[in-house]
Amino acid sequence: MPFGLIVQLPGLAYRLPSAVAKQHVFSCTALHGLLMLHAQSMILQLAQSAICNRFHTAVQRLSRWLFLTSERAHSDRFELTHEFVAEMVGGPRTAISQAAATLRRLGVIDYERGVMIIRNRTQLHRMACECADAVGSAVRGDGAGALSPAGRSARRARATKSR
Ligand SMILES: [Zn+2]
Repeated sequence: MPFGLIVQLPGLAYRLPSAVAKQHVFSCTALHGLLMLHAQSMILQLAQSAICNRFHTAVQRLSRWLFLTSERAHSDRFELTHEFVAEMVGGPRTAISQAAATLRRLGVIDYERGVMIIRNRTQLHRMACECADAVGSAVRGDGAGALSPAGRSARRARATKSR
């Protein structure tokens, strides 16, 4: 099966020969458990992305992607082009550029010459769709995720009722 890998941001990574991984994956329960959690997280992210691309606006999706990327990279500054971001967010470059211009006009982000800067993380999180929380909790392993276009609204309604 052919695979392609994309490194989204500069950073450190480890790699090992697949034969070594195969040798240890079933004999090391800790490694096996981590790989199963990662696989579960990836499946949830793929499913959530399909829902996200169908139901959420370019501004919501761009906000989600930038918020999660910032969380994972522990940085509010990235070297990214609009074309690459459009590929990651899932939309035409023009739509993503318009969404970025909207976020910039609101003071949420800024960008120039291939560098994206998050100016207001709290606002960026507010503008993101609920997929940010669903995917974020799946990646961190602290929740089951939403898998619903109305998940955040439903959770808010339940929380309000239980008060
Ligand atoms: Zn979404």
